[in-house]
Amino acid sequence: MEKILLIGCKRVMDDVCIGCSRCLVAFNRREGEFARYKDQEAEIMGVLNCGDCPGAGIVPRLAQVQLWNAPLNEKPTKVHIAVCLRDHCPYFEEIVEKIKNKAGVEVILGSHPYIPDNVFA
Ligand code: SF4
Repeated sequence: MEKILLIGCKRVMDDVCIGCSRCLVAFNRREGEFARYKDQEAEIMGVLNCGDCPGAGIVPRLAQVQLWNAPLNEKPTKVHIAVCLRDHCPYFEEIVEKIKNKAGVEVILGSHPYIPDNVFA
């Protein structure tokens, strides 16, 4: 069973991309970067924001995920970097490097595939 921790941009999650719904729908439908779990048991065990610019708090936040979930026997086996963080964050490289150095599990760049090509067409 894969347990996925999804990490996104604090300034986008639930304000711009309301309810993180596109990531969750993509996971439920196994689309976008979640297609890799098509024939696999997988759950999203957490949806975490980066902690705000410039992402200095990301490692303590990972540690906090571990702390809160340890009594539940839950821990991520995969981290997904949501498209809000992957495509729009000026600190993307540093944040992902920190996550890769500390997570101890595979870090996958991407989540949902539903970015519209244009707004009015
Ligand atoms: S550090 Fe990047 S991902 Fe985090 S709030 Fe700022 S722009 Fe968004």
